Amino acid sequence: YQGADMNVFELNESSVRSYCRSFPVVFKQARGAELITRDGKHYIDFLAGAGTLNYGHNHPVLKQALLDYIAGDGLAHGLDMYSEAKERFLETFNRLILEPRGMGDYLMQFTGPTGSNAVEAALKLARKVTGRSNVISFTNGFHGCSIGSLAATGNQHHRGAAGISLSDISRMPYANYFGDKADTIGMIDKLLADPSSGIDKPAAVIVEVLQGEGGLNAASAEWMRKLEKLCRKHDMLLIVDDIQAGCGRTGSFFSFEGMGIQPDMITLSKSLSGFGVPFAMVVLRKELDQWQPGEHNGTFRGNNHAFVTAAAALEHFWRDDGFARSVLAKGQRIADGMARIVRRHGPGSLSVKGRGMMLGIRCPDGEIASAICRHAFDNGLVIETSGPHGEVVKCLCPLVISDEQIDQALGILDKAFAAVLS
Ligand code: PMP
Repeated sequence: YQGADMNVFELNESSVRSYCRSFPVVFKQARGAELITRDGKHYIDFLAGAGTLNYGHNHPVLKQALLDYIAGDGLAHGLDMYSEAKERFLETFNRLILEPRGMGDYLMQFTGPTGSNAVEAALKLARKVTGRSNVISFTNGFHGCSIGSLAATGNQHHRGAAGISLSDISRMPYANYFGDKADTIGMIDKLLADPSSGIDKPAAVIVEVLQGEGGLNAASAEWMRKLEKLCRKHDMLLIVDDIQAGCGRTGSFFSFEGMGIQPDMITLSKSLSGFGVPFAMVVLRKELDQWQPGEHNGTFRGNNHAFVTAAAALEHFWRDDGFARSVLAKGQRIADGMARIVRRHGPGSLSVKGRGMMLGIRCPDGEIASAICRHAFDNGLVIETSGPHGEVVKCLCPLVISDEQIDQALGILDKAFAAVLS
């Protein structure tokens, strides 16, 4: 790696297994959409902890809520024990998120603290409730790295290391996989109805409305409605994995809002706590709650610090639609800037992908995309790639980023594309 602090890189590489190849500096502080290194260098954050920091680093309101809670000796962790912090989160999520969206009859199940664990819980519950084990997932989908969630994951890059047989998943073509004319849902319908396809009747379908790791492929409202219909026709549960696209990322709390669908389960994690505190849950239809005690345990489910920051984030950002509107406006600003970059540096070979504030530029290949990210990093922008070949330069910045920071970051990206593609 050129142009980085090699001492730091070597130290990290030799002393711990989990070293960072892309950003070989030591970060010390972070505020909003800005990261600051030990040496005082400032970076704009277009990664935001892989989407865990939608509300920015150390948001003052969330930070104060946590500081007050700790100062008052609020319990940090209580497993399943009922606590005031848990009660407040449940009440707030219900009042500000579920009820206004006509979802007042959904329940919340706290799982282990990772997105993967929420996916495991949803897949397990779908199998238990239906008595079937096969699950449909989609090409280029990403659902986690535990064995069940990995089985549902299409991305070979993530699956590679496992090298093990991961059964009971039928991976089907995602929206637009064959171009926008092909009827993928019709194809799946036909395969499900044909015993010669060898597909066991599935318990559920798990889908991202906008594929985060898979390269920002977006499903249309029409495709999602057809998928829901297919689920009803074949008696399959519809699980929306909103771990990355949820919590405001697309300009609404859930990524599927306004699409006219009602998933049976929704998995949430990443930005749910709003503060980077690990937290995950499944939102499920009441009648699916057939868990018996101990059937999906996990020592760190229901962390009280996460409840505190999550409730504070909901109160601060989701009392009205001002925040959601600002996300759409900023998303448009980023999309416009990206479109200008595409026009300037490769209208034939580059394209803008995604929606809301989950956007990226598709490059001809992964090497080009990585070189662009490295150039951007050297000039003060932390940004990563996604997609099956790492070919999409992806913006996943905090949703609270300012217009000035957006423009600055786009300027850095513009120069990076010019340098790498010239
Ligand atoms: N689902 C989606 C859509 C994700 O983007 C991710 C994480 N990138 C996961 C599941 C897994 O979450 P975690 O890494 O917290 O296990």
